[in-house]
Amino acid sequence: MADDFDLIIIGAGIAGSTCALLCARAGLSVLFVERGEQPGCKNLSGGRLYGYAFTDILPDFLTKAPLERQITRENFSLLTTDNATTLCAENPASASWSVLRARFDPWLAAEAEAAGAQLLCGVTVDALHEENQRVAGVVCDGEVLKAKVVVLAEGANSLLAEQHGLLPRRSFNGMALGIKETLALDAARLEERFHLEGNEGAAWLFSGQICGTKPAGAFLYTNKQSLSLGIVAPLTSLREGPAAASSLLENLKNHPSLRPLLRDAQTLEYGAHLVPEGGLSSVPLQKAGEGWLLVGDSLRTCINTGVTVRGMDMAVLGAKAAAQAIIGHVQSPQIPLQLQYEQQIAASVLWQQLQRYRHVPALLQSEAWYRQWPVFAQRVMQDLTRADPEVTPPLWRMLLRHALRFGPARLSAEIVRSLRCL
Ligand SMILES: Cc1cc2nc3c(=O)[nH]c(=O)nc-3n(C[C@H](O)[C@H](O)[C@H](O)COP(=O)(O)OP(=O)(O)OC[C@H]3O[C@@H](n4cnc5c(N)ncnc54)[C@H](O)[C@@H]3O)c2cc1C
Repeated sequence: MADDFDLIIIGAGIAGSTCALLCARAGLSVLFVERGEQPGCKNLSGGRLYGYAFTDILPDFLTKAPLERQITRENFSLLTTDNATTLCAENPASASWSVLRARFDPWLAAEAEAAGAQLLCGVTVDALHEENQRVAGVVCDGEVLKAKVVVLAEGANSLLAEQHGLLPRRSFNGMALGIKETLALDAARLEERFHLEGNEGAAWLFSGQICGTKPAGAFLYTNKQSLSLGIVAPLTSLREGPAAASSLLENLKNHPSLRPLLRDAQTLEYGAHLVPEGGLSSVPLQKAGEGWLLVGDSLRTCINTGVTVRGMDMAVLGAKAAAQAIIGHVQSPQIPLQLQYEQQIAASVLWQQLQRYRHVPALLQSEAWYRQWPVFAQRVMQDLTRADPEVTPPLWRMLLRHALRFGPARLSAEIVRSLRCL
């Protein structure tokens, strides 16, 4: 029997819709299937999107995409339970924006539809259809839809890929839980609190004591009239940490350095989602096979750089490589899809980025970041800003005093390691 489509894509997230757009543009018949009633309604992101990934495929991206605010203020805080040491920088030339996926994903999917792809929403792919030991389509509500290639862009919770043995079963390692709340705050108050004007936006990243002294990070992004606030904590931290996942975000909201910023902000929505943050070591060796291909979070390409989670731009880069491989394979079926995809990924910036940040997941497991560094920073700042009847010691002596408490050998090793990894 003939195929119904050249390509069926499971999931209309960032990876799925980008792949649909590029393949439809190249003249392939594309169906992309989304279990949500509309794209984006099942998806969750902190919401910082780096625009470079889109500008070559959608040249009018900056004027047409539903972007919230351009990130022009960067803050990074090391938290103890009741204190924060914060670095703040102005970055007016930033090329990143806050986005809300409930708005962004429908827009991106509509671009793919405009290029000729067919979108099926509110339908869950229940299984992959296999013929002669190759993936030959999908099964939805008992109906088989056939295609030359099936793209699994089902996100971090890759049930189909795991059920069919295309991905190893998930383990605790390399997986985090992202918990996020969107809070309504009118534009005037938001701009006053975060020192913004017009379309400017702020990104605020937090490290330190967020899940006790276990590894975890947090983020706050300003949208047009709301704030995106959340925590990303490895599953191992949640298992061993001091509090239930549900109370971590509440504790953060009540931290003395955040509470005034959130005053009178009303919760609009709340959600939690897996984040594959294992980096290069989590990417499966086999990325594609006979009739199938993994992309986006299903391929585990999301990167936690230590100061930001970068899953969306990585998903776009992966989708570009996937589209080129699929287009090449449909034109020259004698060259295996797996080979074409490996070549495209190896040539992509995605691969260079994964290599570049390959040591960061291990660094982020180091308890010093969460236990000692925030206290060290707090004590140095207290010394620097103190005035009392004693003569203030020079800076080097202050640093040395605190470094001795920390253990100078361990401190130097941590500094060298952090500089090498970040
Ligand atoms: C709390 C949190 C904060 C984050 N912060 C950032 C950030 O600031 N910046 C950034 O770049 N990244 C961030 N990320 C990561 C980013 O959200 C992901 O890497 C990105 O969404 C991956 O895109 P994707 O298309 O691969 O998967 P997804 O966006 O998860 O899309 C998968 C789609 O597949 C659909 N689907 C799944 N199974 C089926 C099925 N069987 N049938 C039909 N449809 C199906 C889903 O409904 C979904 O729409 C964050 C993630 C979380 C959880």
